[in-house]
Amino acid sequence: MPDINHRLQQVLSEISLYEQELGRPAGSVQLLAVSKTRPAEDLHAAWQGGQRLFAENYLQEALDKMTTLSSLAIEWHFIGPIQSNKTAAITEHFDWVHSIERLKIAQRLSAQRPADKPPLQVLLQVNSSQEASKSGCRLAELESLAAAVMELPGLQLRGLMTIPARSDNFEQQRQPFHQLQQALQQLNDKGYTLDTLSMGMSNDIRAAIAEGATMVRVGTALFGARTGSTRT
Ligand SMILES: *Cc1c(COP(=O)(O)O)cnc(C)c1O
Repeated sequence: MPDINHRLQQVLSEISLYEQELGRPAGSVQLLAVSKTRPAEDLHAAWQGGQRLFAENYLQEALDKMTTLSSLAIEWHFIGPIQSNKTAAITEHFDWVHSIERLKIAQRLSAQRPADKPPLQVLLQVNSSQEASKSGCRLAELESLAAAVMELPGLQLRGLMTIPARSDNFEQQRQPFHQLQQALQQLNDKGYTLDTLSMGMSNDIRAAIAEGATMVRVGTALFGARTGSTRT
């Protein structure tokens, strides 16, 4: 447990260091704690260290933790693939969704958003690696998806997210992040007011911050290596 708090403080100071080094305003990069496969106690330990934003990939696992941690005012982010039959529970229980790649899913999340809640905060997931196997909408389809999602009353479109192919080379890591930042800029040039770039994970935080990330999604660096078969 003290371990998690220690790593949390380390990641936070790394983020402020990179902000400073890379010419980003202090506090412009938020840390999203990716807690998939971690027990509720680990989230609680991070909470005690001051962490408030948590991200989950698997619905049932997330719902269990939400129940256990219901006394904590956590902001919950959904970052996993979304099946149609899961949209109702996702839009009922989460504050943000990063992984919208199809209009049909967005329409369901909007229609099923509880009337007593503010609009669901959403990001469009972009395929930045141009591999057919990677998820996310293609850049060529981004603008029409964004235009359609803007019309949905239950959603508030905030920006873009991407999961690039893994690389250990800084310059290579920057490329897909640069592309995402350009895509956001192009939308904003057309009148959108998007303010969120969700990009960067444990091994490429610095490249993401260099390219304008406003939210980095960190699992391993906070909670240690994941064991078992689940990985992204
Ligand atoms: C698991 C996951 C992360 C965190 O990855 P780490 O390498 O453990 O930091 C970030 N984003 C998404 C979408 C994930 O599934």
